[in-house]
Amino acid sequence: CGIVGYVGRRDCADVLINALTKLEYRGYDSAGIAVFENNAIRVEKSKGRLQNLVDKMKIDGKPQGHVGIGHTRWATHGEPSDINSHPHGNKRVTIVHNGIIENYKQIKDFLIKEGYSFVSETDTETVAKLLDYYYNGNPIETIARVIAEIKGSYALGIMFRDYPDAIFAVRKECPLIAGVGEGENFIASDVPAILQYTRNYYLLEQNEIAIVKEDSIKICDIHGMEINKELQTADWDE
Ligand code: GLU
Repeated sequence: CGIVGYVGRRDCADVLINALTKLEYRGYDSAGIAVFENNAIRVEKSKGRLQNLVDKMKIDGKPQGHVGIGHTRWATHGEPSDINSHPHGNKRVTIVHNGIIENYKQIKDFLIKEGYSFVSETDTETVAKLLDYYYNGNPIETIARVIAEIKGSYALGIMFRDYPDAIFAVRKECPLIAGVGEGENFIASDVPAILQYTRNYYLLEQNEIAIVKEDSIKICDIHGMEINKELQTADWDE
């Protein structure tokens, strides 16, 4: 299972697929991507190998854009299927997730009372809809509010429709790095995903929130205070 994300000038869908290919060794049963296309979030996902997703996009047309997130899933809640594949969410907020949300049932019951409906059987969809529920126009405040409520393990890649030049990331007990390029930046579960593009990255610590744009990566705490991180450099070969 794995998470990747890209903001830059290249064809985002191609970068996401390339990066996910490098994470195949981790194992997975489904794959998907979300890309900003004409300021809307477009999702393509499929059960099975990454090649299934690539083939599907040959039929649907590949999302055209420069900002997006990608996922390979190792199903824990809900069988491997097209619908349970990530990304999850709605027009306003879309996420990819590795890990397990232990209290997803309580959150789901609460959100159903609040009028939300669910299409998948995943724990992940509850996080996407909880982000939507708390969304107040400020992504950091919204993410901080949600991670205060969810229990379990997670690496999350997040897109907000209102911020089409950025992807957001946060983690707890699942690995996640922010890759630093020139005029392009990345997120990934592990370094091999981005080595073909850059060797420089930041290690995200528990509950640090990364805001990744084409020309900047800002990492802040749950109060929005910027954290100065030490740049890491991979000294091994692809
Ligand atoms: N628990 C989530 C699901 O079953 C994420 C699984 C993963 O880590 O890929 O969809």
